[in-house]
Amino acid sequence: MLAGLAPAKRERLEALGIRRESDLLLHLPLRYEDETRITPIAAAVPGLIAQFEARVLESRVETRRRRELVCRVADDSGELVLRFLNFYPSHLKALRAGVRLRFYGEVRGGFFGYELIHPRFRVVEEGEPLPSALTPVYPTTTGLTQGFLRRLIGSALEGCDGEETLPACVRARHALPSFAESIHALHRPPAGLSAASIEAWLRPYRRRLAFDELLAQQLSLRQAYAARRARAAPALAGDGRLIRQFLARLPFRLTAAQLRVWREIEADLAQESPMQRLLQGDVGSGKTVIAALAMLRALEAGYQAALMAPTEILAEQHYRKLAAWLSPMGVELAWLVGAQSKRTRQIIGDRLARGEVSLVVGTHALIEEEVEFARLALAIVDEQHRFGVRQRLALKQKGIETHQLAMSATPIPRTLAMSYYADLDVSVLDELPPGRNPVATKLVSASRRDEVIARLHACCQAGRQAYWVCPLIEESEALQLKTALETHALLREKLPDLAVGLVHGRLKAEEKAAVMEAFAAGKIQLLVATTVIEVGVDVPNATLMVIEHAERFGLAQLHQLRGRVGRGAAESTCILLYEAPLSATARQRLKIIYENHDGFEIARQDLLLRGPGEFIGSRQSGIPLLRFADLADEALIEAARETADEMLAQWPDSVARHLERWLAGREALLGA
Ligand code: ADP
Ligand code: MG
Repeated sequence: MLAGLAPAKRERLEALGIRRESDLLLHLPLRYEDETRITPIAAAVPGLIAQFEARVLESRVETRRRRELVCRVADDSGELVLRFLNFYPSHLKALRAGVRLRFYGEVRGGFFGYELIHPRFRVVEEGEPLPSALTPVYPTTTGLTQGFLRRLIGSALEGCDGEETLPACVRARHALPSFAESIHALHRPPAGLSAASIEAWLRPYRRRLAFDELLAQQLSLRQAYAARRARAAPALAGDGRLIRQFLARLPFRLTAAQLRVWREIEADLAQESPMQRLLQGDVGSGKTVIAALAMLRALEAGYQAALMAPTEILAEQHYRKLAAWLSPMGVELAWLVGAQSKRTRQIIGDRLARGEVSLVVGTHALIEEEVEFARLALAIVDEQHRFGVRQRLALKQKGIETHQLAMSATPIPRTLAMSYYADLDVSVLDELPPGRNPVATKLVSASRRDEVIARLHACCQAGRQAYWVCPLIEESEALQLKTALETHALLREKLPDLAVGLVHGRLKAEEKAAVMEAFAAGKIQLLVATTVIEVGVDVPNATLMVIEHAERFGLAQLHQLRGRVGRGAAESTCILLYEAPLSATARQRLKIIYENHDGFEIARQDLLLRGPGEFIGSRQSGIPLLRFADLADEALIEAARETADEMLAQWPDSVARHLERWLAGREALLGA
């Protein structure tokens, strides 16, 4: 049926996501119009949207500000005016006196009585039967009329066998109506449903489609997981010598959560199939130690491991931290970033390719350059949310399959993790190291900037350090840089006795590194920064952070930034400067960050506020967002997950048919 359409029409349908006939069935109405009843004209009141049937008394063209076609109609109960501001001669012909019309639209109070502007109308014979279902109104695009879509979907519905893809026991257990019944109900709700009752009536059918959609997502992600799981990877086991030595040298003991997570990872690494694990842990929960342990395990087993970070600052910091831990143990660590000279990268690359060095830390340069490894067996991606979700899998080596560990400090709400990350095992660090004080958060109007500067001064005088985060200017990087430079100049002028440093994205890598090193060493007391410091930066003596124009930042970003302080035992403060007046949503966002310290709770509220797109970075990853399912419906997601496992084990044919309906042609995107 679609094949018979003109290519231009097919293209437009594709823009709506309709490629196959079965996609038509899943193109659901936005709302419904009730043409199953005729309202007597006497019942018309302004604002009423209804269908009427009447005879034309008279039609004529009037010229007011412009030409209009005015048509007077009447039924047994009264009279109405239909007014057309755009019309053709054919309208005038169709609307001649004496014909019987059915028309649908909104009644308005006009100058000469009630009227309808541009109603949809049709000439009918007396006694013409009324439709038995409500009229669907579909989402559409230019070049596709409602009438066209209705006819197309209508014939797809008639030809639809509505094949059931769910086993009867699953439907019974979760009280789900059949697929065919649901599709018909949603496209053609019966006459007699009022605007008030229709949503409740449709609910079970909507729930069925939401379930199907979630199930398709679970099935395809679980299949992708199983396919990767079926590949062979080197089992990483070791004698534990390096790991024992490392733990003994650490100045602290692992938290219970760190121990648990390490056991999970250790068990994965010992398997002969690749680990596919996401490690979630709030800012400061101590993920780096876990990365170090995993890398040492690879080394013990005689393999190589790589740690990739999203920014050079962070890569550099990881490098320093890991080197400080590992060098005294005689373990060599390489580091590779794009800003190094070509020659340096060449040398490091050669050593990795020959297997002379086993552990490496770096940025995208690790995947972008053609870096070869002699025997890479473990790839760790830090702050994976900063990379596209699917990019995490890119750090792979030709030849051996690598174990993969993605680490994220943007806590993903449980429901989101359950649905979009069903192809990963998830470990959670749900405990902060002891002795941390929650950061006191203050909301301060920008008009009190001078008081804030005085406070900053006192803090640095007392031997502490501080950050000043410049506003995010999404539209212009140049403007953002300018603001950072100005803020730096201003703070230097106002605080002449302090060492004030500046770090931003345009600095060369060595320059950034030099500034960060000076700050870490306490030589810089106040660091003016753009959001380049958002992730990972760890200077425990920094106890005050000022964020300018906090209202412009996302919640996850504010939480990350705030996590840069409160990393030592001292009391820390985060001052959110805002520009009054705040919009209602900005106020709501700042309130959430002010009231909450738990990253998971912040993420949950953020999800409710903004929807899932921001979390999973769908634009980069190409994962289709859910159309029908609501991520707040934890019970339904859980049901879909259980059903997916059951179906994969017992009903492979149903799995194939279900995926064909919901994801045909799109598995490639989901699988990765
Ligand atoms: P994140 O999870 O944000 O990456 P880090 O790994 O940077 O956290 O750890 C934050 C800080 O806590 C670091 O200074 C780290 O050395 C320290 N740390 C990690 N684990 C512990 C622990 N068990 N006890 C005390 N301090 C710890
Ligand atoms: Mg970190």
